[in-house]
Amino acid sequence: MSISCVYNVDIIVYLVKTSLQFFKQSLKTLQSLNKALSRKVKGSGNWYRACRALARQHRKVARQREDWQWKLATELCTEFDTLCFETLNLESMKHLWGRTVSDHAFYQFLKILEQKCAKHSKKLVQIGQWTATTKPCSDCGYDNKELSLSDRQWICHECGSHHDRDVNAAINIKQAGLAA
Ligand SMILES: [Zn+2]
Repeated sequence: MSISCVYNVDIIVYLVKTSLQFFKQSLKTLQSLNKALSRKVKGSGNWYRACRALARQHRKVARQREDWQWKLATELCTEFDTLCFETLNLESMKHLWGRTVSDHAFYQFLKILEQKCAKHSKKLVQIGQWTATTKPCSDCGYDNKELSLSDRQWICHECGSHHDRDVNAAINIKQAGLAA
């Protein structure tokens, strides 16, 4: 008996966005700390103090994000026996979100999830980046080559099924994951 939880790029983008919220929330604090630092004489006692305050704030954001990721991983591992992930095209994500954020938030989450899955003897399956998951119809396998990024909903020309882009991709990832 195996229930699957599925992730595709869109859901991961949501994940990164959500973890960005922690950064945004304290952005004003970070900005004022940065400003304070720039007003100090480099190397002075006040300068070092401002440096430490800024580093402290950055650590706080990182910890909030990690804490949230642990909670999410725990939830997923409790609810599902098999977790299927699509290996992401990180290049395009870096382009969208900037290197640090995408690397940090996503790799960190996968690591946490790996640990959690190992601890609770759950399965974590990764689908290769080159496996088509978005364009094939999850009902009949018809390859919808005309599907573009802006199409959130589409109807299969072959079997007439109505698809939500994310749900269709998720079903394809699940099928590929269970076949692996
Ligand atoms: Zn179809």
